[in-house]
Amino acid sequence: MLYGAAYSNSLHRARADKSAGGAYPLPRWSMVLSINGMTENDPPVMRKIIHVDMDAFYASVEQRDDPALRGKPLAVGGSAKRGVVAAASYEARKFGVKSAMPGVTARRRCPQLLFVKPRFEVYRAVSQQLHGIFARYTHIIEPLSLDEAYLDVTADLAGLGSATAIAEAIRGDIRRELRLTASAGVSYNKFIAKVASDQNKPDGVFVVRPEEGAAFVATLPARRFFGVGPKTAERMSSLGIQTGADIRAQTLGFLEQHFGKSAHYLYRASRGEDYRAVKADRERKSIGGERTYSDDLSTDEALRDALEHIIDIVWERIHRNNARGRTVTIKVKYADFQQITRARSVSPPVDTREAFERLSRGLLEALLPVPKGVRLLGLTLSSLESSQEPAHTGESGVAESGPVQESLAF
Ligand SMILES: [Mg+2]
Repeated sequence: MLYGAAYSNSLHRARADKSAGGAYPLPRWSMVLSINGMTENDPPVMRKIIHVDMDAFYASVEQRDDPALRGKPLAVGGSAKRGVVAAASYEARKFGVKSAMPGVTARRRCPQLLFVKPRFEVYRAVSQQLHGIFARYTHIIEPLSLDEAYLDVTADLAGLGSATAIAEAIRGDIRRELRLTASAGVSYNKFIAKVASDQNKPDGVFVVRPEEGAAFVATLPARRFFGVGPKTAERMSSLGIQTGADIRAQTLGFLEQHFGKSAHYLYRASRGEDYRAVKADRERKSIGGERTYSDDLSTDEALRDALEHIIDIVWERIHRNNARGRTVTIKVKYADFQQITRARSVSPPVDTREAFERLSRGLLEALLPVPKGVRLLGLTLSSLESSQEPAHTGESGVAESGPVQESLAF
């Protein structure tokens, strides 16, 4: 039913979107055909996607490796002055301790909270073991962070017969081999699989079948939609939009007017549709962060302090993404809006905090003494090296090595 105009139109848009680097990849043609209207000529591409998410990852690894920490409220990170909690154990979460919370706030909420230093090398090693487990079941693995990934299991490499069985097999391997627990969401697209993995956390599975997708999405709070942060959620709320059903009730024009480039995604997602492929070769071009200051920074000392804070934030992101890169760039916007960037590239790539700090500080020092007030400061790591295996995917996002099994059940 989507042959003809709609088909070529979506193909067109997908191309245009690619070159414009849009935030939400538009549907590949095959996905449009399969989801919106099956005919016997359609390619067999109803996907089976699993989103796997380790439970309280850093904290669970620490509790696994130190029996004295088990059953206790625990925060990883956050003990330093102005430190931020990187992860909290479930025991700590009961007190309202959350990741990204300042350590002082966490301690106030839970006075007996134990703090341990993060051991990113260990988390990274566990993450690689995790990747090894995933690879037994699929070649199409898209990591989102050290402890989270999308898997396209449509090809059912291990021949387990259902996506749910694959999710359970993966969770079993993780429990036995890593002595950790993971939760999984099983569905036909990425958006729903990700939301579903949160549904029975910790140590749970939740399955949303294609015929259940629209109803499942309708009940979700709007803030659980991909890309809806606190600000957007607030704007939605002021427009009377609280749930997926409320988003669905809006016209595309209305969504475009209020949410700009997210509109198309929201329009589809609120109908349970999300055509993004699991991309094994997901390529990030850079990881960075910047801050705009309410009062201009006008002394070298203030700039150095501000830079340390940005180093903290950006390094945490680099770590979370298991990234290494060769180029560090500093961005400075002056009070008069003149903007400059300075970059340095190194070999071998930056893969320690020390190296990242050294390069970042060097770039700032070269710009001192500060000639005028600074309103924005930012750092970026780019020329990233992929930590993934080479991609095994064909153009359709379906594994080339295995036949597509239309019959694989959820
Ligand atoms: Mg997690």
